Amino acid sequence: MIKRDGALPSLWQQTVNPLEVNNAAPTHLYDVIIVGAGITGISLAHRLQNTGLQCLVLEAHNCCFGTTGGTTAHLNTLLDTPYTTIIKNFGEEHAKLVAQSVKEAIHNIERNIEQYQIDCGFEKTPAYLFAQNDDQQKELQDIVEACEKVSVPVHYTNTIPVNIPFTKAIEIPSQAKFSPVKYVYELAKAFINAGGRIIEQTAVTNHTQRTDEVTNEAIIEVQTATNLTYIAKALVYATHIPPGVNVLHLRCAPYRSYAMAVKLAQDNYLAELCYDMYDPYHYYRTQVIDGEPYFIAGGEDHKTGHESNTEACFNQLQAHIRKYFNVESITHKWSSQYYEPADGLPYIGSLPGAGDNIFVATGYGGNGMVYSQVATILLAELIITGASAYKELFDPNRVKPIAGFANFIKENADVVKNLVSGLISREQLESLSELAHGEGKVVVYDKHKIALYKDQEGKLYVLNPTCTHLKCSVSWNAAELSWDCPCHGARYSIDGEVLNGPANMDLKRIDLQEE
Ligand SMILES: Cc1cc2nc3c(=O)[nH]c(=O)nc-3n(C[C@H](O)[C@H](O)[C@H](O)COP(=O)(O)OP(=O)(O)OC[C@H]3O[C@@H](n4cnc5c(N)ncnc54)[C@H](O)[C@@H]3O)c2cc1C
Repeated sequence: MIKRDGALPSLWQQTVNPLEVNNAAPTHLYDVIIVGAGITGISLAHRLQNTGLQCLVLEAHNCCFGTTGGTTAHLNTLLDTPYTTIIKNFGEEHAKLVAQSVKEAIHNIERNIEQYQIDCGFEKTPAYLFAQNDDQQKELQDIVEACEKVSVPVHYTNTIPVNIPFTKAIEIPSQAKFSPVKYVYELAKAFINAGGRIIEQTAVTNHTQRTDEVTNEAIIEVQTATNLTYIAKALVYATHIPPGVNVLHLRCAPYRSYAMAVKLAQDNYLAELCYDMYDPYHYYRTQVIDGEPYFIAGGEDHKTGHESNTEACFNQLQAHIRKYFNVESITHKWSSQYYEPADGLPYIGSLPGAGDNIFVATGYGGNGMVYSQVATILLAELIITGASAYKELFDPNRVKPIAGFANFIKENADVVKNLVSGLISREQLESLSELAHGEGKVVVYDKHKIALYKDQEGKLYVLNPTCTHLKCSVSWNAAELSWDCPCHGARYSIDGEVLNGPANMDLKRIDLQEE
């Protein structure tokens, strides 16, 4: 089983064996270095390598460690940001371009699957969106009108594939689903076979730019946590959110979403994709893996670090599933992270504040399976030719002030004082905190905050809760056993190791004085 950025195993993690990568890549000049081996990084690396460019992928953990390992992998042209909103914010012509880009995205995945004969359960299928009250019905009507304007085919229907009461529903043909990690691993193998390199367990910590003295070309030096430096002509942060401090952290809000895979008592697994219209909404589908069908449902989203009882989110999701489906057993439950963009569209293109030839793809919301492919098409064009029909639309440097978003993203920074290690004895701390086995919390000791977790065997993990990104105080996520930052979504393991950017330094460990 491969690893993921949470303690709970997703349905997909067991579907592949670890990649066979040669971690000793040469440090010569690459055409492109891609940071991050999720669906974005691997798809882009594969495409560029096949155009003849020499590519290196640097991954902090393992391929699909990030949200690609925790997704639910619906492939949609009907997006989470309704076309009504996209038309309002970007105009009808640009909204048409968005619709065209995501259609092309699904086609891109389908083409790779055909070319490499990837056995990842890919199926084209209709999707259904259903309203359950008057407000939702009105919203649905607006969505239908907007879809007509941007040429996304939809039509009203009297039936939906789930047994949930509804007032109005639409069918969206030609959507798709697949097993994401299987797909990405096979594509990664095709990339390696084409001469590409992937180095796992290698976090990128920084990059610098210089001009080559001989060729006069701009060169990017990429520093890693393993103290090796790699050089390239272009650099792409396919890290879901760029590391370090960037204006994009003010334009993307981190969210957690919850998913469960279950076996149903009767063999009435839906073949299609389905969605209700609550905010947050529930999503439903089936995936057959090794001949076994799994019903997958998700929802209960909230801003990262803003829910004190993350286990309760699973309880609510489970109650919802049991209300409408005849559940025999729950085989998997997991949560994962996505980034909601300020104006409804992702940021794909030049990294703001960085020089030429440094790129980023972020702010996908809940549509990263398709937007990762848009990023692949767009960034490959930018790197190879400098131009793309999608360049302006998804430009990360666009300024689109959206009313309310500044407040939406603003957090109380709650900057915490640094605790000098070793001042507090283990005995004193244990008596102060009274933690149950398996419990984590932030406690205050002598005006200093301390993050404590006691594992099931009684071992105490003691950390400084100051997020190393911008010094907010982290919160305990009991479901995934992680420390999550409510400001920009950085996450850390019980040891303080970075699980999710934008932080690129671990939480400080506190050594206790032994008696
Ligand atoms: C529960 C859930 C369900 C979802 N369902 C859907 C869906 O049905 N359809 C859909 O379209 N989208 C869905 N999404 C969104 C989609 O899954 C994501 O947008 C997508 O997986 C992001 O892929 P990525 O490759 O950009 O990022 P990731 O998969 O997160 O990969 C980024 C990689 O970068 C690595 N990395 C980070 N920092 C560094 C560094 N400094 N150095 C080296 N490596 C680094 C990470 O370890 C990670 O492996 C869902 C999201 C969630 C949370």
